[in-house]
Amino acid sequence: MSKSHRGTGVRTEPKHGRGKCPVCGNENVKVLYEKEIDGKTVKVCKFCNAKMKNVARKEARAAKAAAPAAE
Ligand SMILES: [Zn+2]
Repeated sequence: MSKSHRGTGVRTEPKHGRGKCPVCGNENVKVLYEKEIDGKTVKVCKFCNAKMKNVARKEARAAKAAAPAAE
């Protein structure tokens, strides 16, 4: 496993993977994380990537707590 989000891994990306994050609107951040939002695959920065991961985890936990009998 190489570091695909830093160093050599981003050299092949246009502008070394930098651009505007469609979620937080930050410019000149590295947008390297592919995420599916509303059925579309967009590239987001690592902060939004982590945020979405946490939200998804919380939702999964909440769904599990709401229906403990299911499976
Ligand atoms: Zn972002």
